[in-house]
Amino acid sequence: MSTSQCIFCAIARDSAHESPIYRDDQVFVVKDINPKAPVHLLIIPNMHLASLAYIGPGQVPIMGQMFIVAEEMARREGVTLSGYRLAVNQGKDSGQEIEHLHMHLLGGQGLGAMG
Ligand code: AMP
Ligand code: ZN
Repeated sequence: MSTSQCIFCAIARDSAHESPIYRDDQVFVVKDINPKAPVHLLIIPNMHLASLAYIGPGQVPIMGQMFIVAEEMARREGVTLSGYRLAVNQGKDSGQEIEHLHMHLLGGQGLGAMG
């Protein structure tokens, strides 16, 4: 998929887009449109990376910022102490739907065991 057809690139490019609840020079955050938990946010790099398969040493700052912002968002949503899960889907077996790297932040209820 080209970046011109990518929904997350479209949001990243449009600084007036209403969806992001957080933006900085590396990442933005939106509420998932089909939430799987009371808190379900997506932490998304501004730069188009189709998936984890495309990261390398040059992406260390972005990957670090995704975790820093995830914890900041969790704190704002009041789930740091109750707990939350961060998840990144990679490829077909994970069910990855959107080919622009994003990290899910899920919380606000018991999430059950993984797997
Ligand atoms: P994944 O399976 O990891 O690719 O997850 C894609 C997620 O993006 C799903 O949970 C969708 O509900 C969510 N989603 C799709 N389009 C949008 C959008 N425009 N804004 C917010 N969330 C979206
Ligand atoms: Zn993109």
